[in-house]
Amino acid sequence: MLIVKTTAALQQILDREKVQRHQLGFVPTMGALHSGHLQLVETARKSNDVLLCSIFVNPTQFNIQKDYEKYPITIENDIDLLESMGCDILFLPSVNEMYPADETVIQYDLGYLEDILEGKFRPGHFQGVCRIVDKFLEISKPHTLYLGQKDYQQCMVIRKMMQLRSHQNRLEICPTVREDNGLAKSSRNMRLNGEELNMASAIYKALSDIKTHFHPGNSMEVQKIATGFLEAKGFIVDYVTIADAETLHPVKDWDGKGKLVTLAAAYLNEVRLIDNLLIN
Ligand code: AMP
Repeated sequence: MLIVKTTAALQQILDREKVQRHQLGFVPTMGALHSGHLQLVETARKSNDVLLCSIFVNPTQFNIQKDYEKYPITIENDIDLLESMGCDILFLPSVNEMYPADETVIQYDLGYLEDILEGKFRPGHFQGVCRIVDKFLEISKPHTLYLGQKDYQQCMVIRKMMQLRSHQNRLEICPTVREDNGLAKSSRNMRLNGEELNMASAIYKALSDIKTHFHPGNSMEVQKIATGFLEAKGFIVDYVTIADAETLHPVKDWDGKGKLVTLAAAYLNEVRLIDNLLIN
């Protein structure tokens, strides 16, 4: 596996691959890799000649500086894992490499997607996500970009950014990988102790209950029950909601036709967890 730290070096290597018309798959990550990330890597590995992964803890997507500083770094282990999964190129840039002092900052017109759910509770987060993924796509021009359903709204935001910026790559969204108790795998889970890891599965339970019990009609009652269930377990709930799976518009009265997704974000002690399930 080649480890590349500068944009110029990465472009030089990728230009060579493209001349040979190799299919390039790209998996961006912030490191602290777990089996959720590795599923993306495995999927991308199977369908591409060249597999590019990146590890970059992106400062512009953290709206709380302390979260950025506390983000787990396990780089040696990550490199071993990526190597064992057959990754060809690891892009491992510095903050200065990705954000030169003289750059002009693009403002992405994400519309309402930016102000709802994660956007509402993490102002500026999605602008930061778009800023870095846009740069990565511009540099690497992959055939396919692989993202996890775990970050459902992020997938929609990146899809929108790709349209705005005319990126031509395909977007493949891979299913959420979970612990045996249902808890979605996340780098943040490293900050939970054994007891908290058990408790955290309540988010999956709340979403599964919504998935099982939601019928056409009013959704407010089920959302209220799920919120109450999580609060009783000691969570501080940012949101539990049911939304249109395509647009993410909240669904208050479901006619039984459109595809839905239920999404939640809640704090367990200091750790903010998110998850979602497609309903139908
Ligand atoms: P991150 O390192 O958290 O930025 O995540 C990198 C990519 O891995 C994103 O596309 C995430 O959605 C995806 N990902 C993270 N956790 C999971 C999971 N449990 N299952 C599937 N994909 C995941």
